[in-house]
Amino acid sequence: MSKPAHNLIDEAAAYRHPAASGGKWLAKDKRHAIYLRDGRTCAYCGRAVVVGAHVSVSGAATVDHVVPEVEGGGREAANLVTSCVGCNSSKGAQSMRSWLKVLRSRGVDTDAARREIRNRTGRNLAPFRAEAKRQIAAGLI
Ligand SMILES: [Zn+2]
Repeated sequence: MSKPAHNLIDEAAAYRHPAASGGKWLAKDKRHAIYLRDGRTCAYCGRAVVVGAHVSVSGAATVDHVVPEVEGGGREAANLVTSCVGCNSSKGAQSMRSWLKVLRSRGVDTDAARREIRNRTGRNLAPFRAEAKRQIAAGLI
């Protein structure tokens, strides 16, 4: 017996990568707060990201789930980091363990990357969110 259509839609939504949804899954001020908290650099490769650029632009800023949603990772700030679009699409829905192996094969110091991710996700987002709201209200972003 085939599955009811609504189940198929739920499954498709669960497996669709957040970057493919045009960033609408996260409130604008929270997205920009993550970028500010992370110094507008990719948590994985360390490069500066291009905030506000379309995902077709190399280095465009995206927000990534450290623990993928398909593995139960949530949308709380402690599970979200700034990622360049290249790293985000390479990582996809891989586990962090598997993604770190890929980064290591690319010459990334993964111990440093892990420390950096822990450091970023451990910060209180509130002051960054206030600053993001201020910048949005001022028309700066
Ligand atoms: Zn990157």
